[in-house]
Amino acid sequence: MRAFTYQRAQSPAEAAAAAARTPGARFIAGGTNLLDLMKLEIESPQHLIDVNGLALDKIEATPGGGLRIGALVRNTDLAADARVRKDYAVLSRALLAGASAQLRNKATTAGNLLQRTRCPYFYDTNQPCNKREPGAGCSAIGGYSRNHAILGASDACIATHPSDMAVAMALLDATVETVKPDGATRTIPIADFHRLPGGTPHIEHALTQGELITSVTLPKPTGGVHIYRKVRDRASYAFALISVAAIVLPDGSGRVALGGVAHKPWRRPAADASMNQGARAVAERLLDGAKPSAESAFKVPLVQRTLAAVLADAKKGG
Ligand SMILES: Cc1cc2nc3c(=O)[nH]c(=O)nc-3n(C[C@H](O)[C@H](O)[C@H](O)COP(=O)(O)OP(=O)(O)OC[C@H]3O[C@@H](n4cnc5c(N)ncnc54)[C@H](O)[C@@H]3O)c2cc1C
Ligand code: SF4
Repeated sequence: MRAFTYQRAQSPAEAAAAAARTPGARFIAGGTNLLDLMKLEIESPQHLIDVNGLALDKIEATPGGGLRIGALVRNTDLAADARVRKDYAVLSRALLAGASAQLRNKATTAGNLLQRTRCPYFYDTNQPCNKREPGAGCSAIGGYSRNHAILGASDACIATHPSDMAVAMALLDATVETVKPDGATRTIPIADFHRLPGGTPHIEHALTQGELITSVTLPKPTGGVHIYRKVRDRASYAFALISVAAIVLPDGSGRVALGGVAHKPWRRPAADASMNQGARAVAERLLDGAKPSAESAFKVPLVQRTLAAVLADAKKGG
C-alpha cells in the first residue's frame, strides 16, 4: 500500500470542498472495498477523507411518504429497519443476499453503490484492463468471461456492476442526493447514476470530482409482492451470476430489474409494460440485444428461468 494522508471531515460541504481541492483525494466510509483496492494498488489515493463522523446515518420519513436513507447507514441497519422490511422488502432481501454479516455491519449505502467491479482482470495488475488503465485493452474480451456482462457492454469493457443493493434501488426508482464542492446540492435519479461502459469504462457514475453522496431517497411504497432472487455459484458469500428483483401488484402489473448482467442494474420500460403478458414476454424485452460470449451464454436461459420462477412465486404471494 502507498503512503497517504488522512483527515476526518466535519461536515458534508467541508468534505466535498476538501476532496475537490486536494489532488488524489478519496472519501472513505466502511472501507470494505476501497481498502482492498488500495492494498492491491489498483487505487492509490494520496489523501483519504473519512466521512464516518458526518451525521448521515439516519433513516427518515420524507414528506412525500417515502424514506430518506443517509449515505452512512450501514447495510445491516438498512436491511433490518422495520419500515424497509415492511414497505421495501425487495431492498431488505437484496441487502441480506450480499456479502457477509461482518461486511454488512461496515458497508454503507453510498459505498455499496460505488463499489467497483469484480472482473478478475481488474484486480490483476499484470493484465491489461481499460477500466484500470484507459487505453490498455480489455483482457476479458476473448478471455475468461463467464461472470461478465451480456447486455449494454462495449468493445472496451464487458464488466458487470456487483452490487445487490443497487438492483433493488433501481427497481424502487430511488434518487441519489449529493453535495458538490461549492455547496450546491443535486438529486440524481438512480437510472442515471451508474453508466454503461462505452469508450470510457473508468467513468462509472454521474458524480463529479469531490461530489459527496449525502443520502438516497425512496419514493412512497408501491405495495405488491417483493422478491429478490440471486443465483450464484455457492449459497452464500458470493457475488451474483445473475439476480432478478421484482415487484408484482395484485393485478399482475409491476416492474423488474436484473443484476449481474450489465455495467449497471438493468431495467427496461418495455419489460415492465409487458408484466401482464407472462414471463417469456418480460424476459424477451429485458434480454433484447443481449450479446453474451460463449462462456457467459448460460446467463440468457438462467435469466429466463429465474424470472419465470420469480413471477410464478409472486402470483402465489411471494
Ligand atoms: C469478500 C466480499 C464479498 C462481498 N460480497 C458482496 C455481495 O455479494 N453483494 C454486494 O452487493 N456487495 C458485496 N461486497 C461489497 C460490499 O458490499 C462493498 O464493499 C460495500 O458495500 C462498500 O461500502 P463501504 O462503505 O465499505 O465503501 P468504501 O470501501 O468505504 O468506499 C467505496 C467507494 O465509495 C466511495 N464513497 C464512500 N462513501 C461515499 C460518499 N458518501 N460519497 C461519495 N463517495 C463515497 C469511496 O470513495 C470509494 O470509492 C462484498 C465485499 C467483499 C469484500
Ligand atoms: S471487462 Fe472491464 S474491468 Fe474487466 S478487463 Fe475488461 S476493461 Fe477491465
